[in-house]
Amino acid sequence: MCSPQEPSMMAVGVRMATRSRSCARGAGSRGGGEEAVPLRRGEAAAEGRQSHCPVKRQRKAQRLCVAYEAADGDGEEGKGAEPLQAPGWEPQDWRRQLANIRTMRSRKDAPVDQLGAEHCYDPSAPPKVRRYQVLVSLMLSSQTKDQVTAGAMQRLRARGLTVDSVLQMDDSTLGALIHPVGFWRSKVKYIKQTSAILQQCYGGDIPSSVAELVALPGVGPKMAHLAMAVAWGTVSGIAVDTHVHRIANRLRWTRKQTKAPEQTRAALEEWLPRELWGEINTLLVGFGQQTCLPLHPRCQTCLNQALCPAAQGL
Ligand code: SF4
Repeated sequence: MCSPQEPSMMAVGVRMATRSRSCARGAGSRGGGEEAVPLRRGEAAAEGRQSHCPVKRQRKAQRLCVAYEAADGDGEEGKGAEPLQAPGWEPQDWRRQLANIRTMRSRKDAPVDQLGAEHCYDPSAPPKVRRYQVLVSLMLSSQTKDQVTAGAMQRLRARGLTVDSVLQMDDSTLGALIHPVGFWRSKVKYIKQTSAILQQCYGGDIPSSVAELVALPGVGPKMAHLAMAVAWGTVSGIAVDTHVHRIANRLRWTRKQTKAPEQTRAALEEWLPRELWGEINTLLVGFGQQTCLPLHPRCQTCLNQALCPAAQGL
């Protein structure tokens, strides 16, 4: 039976995810995340012990656990997962490349730095409303520029963005508020469906595990990992979007070329030190917005030009 419970509030902090409640591993922090994380770390632990829909959730956590755990070599063989990297493999020059990207990103003036999911919720709202707003902003952000997502969130917040308010809103009104985000018609449907599940099974809050988040309509792995980081203060994995996917391949941060963001996530998690997982998304997204553009990357001004295997061919 669904049974909402207001979590206790503790000191803000960022921790590495336990991935799922049944497969806990990892330690570290999400670099640069503390300031942006509004939601209390203790809430994740408190909420993680709740079971709003116990049978269904337990089954999904077990099923998805294999896919997320297999990549980091914890001994659980993933069915269909690729073999683990040889121990010690890492991309040539990655530390220097990363340092250069940090230097290029030091001004933190990319769109993601001002308009990312960390900046789209109402900081004065109750914690679970803030977490819901984080999730909605992530759902809107798919295939959408940060500026457009931020505009839609502003309009939604002006109407009071809560699970209840969205469920009471008719589809055409919700569509008009989020337009022109990418695939806005589908997102109306997904936001409504997800909101109904949150109300029925999570007391109006969002779930606190990747497995449960990706089970929500319209929520993919990248959104789930970002939601864990921003809403729960937990680094559960590397959030890979098109920027991270593209740049990781250009810099040869994957041992072989990858075709999809999820492949890139698994490839990066094989070698990138865990303490860097929380930093890498915002760092590379901003780098991709300003310098390593999808088309016509600005290699002439890039500090990695001499170190980048892709620079010659672009
Ligand atoms: S040299 Fe060009 S392709 Fe390589 S990381 Fe820099 S901008 Fe991207």
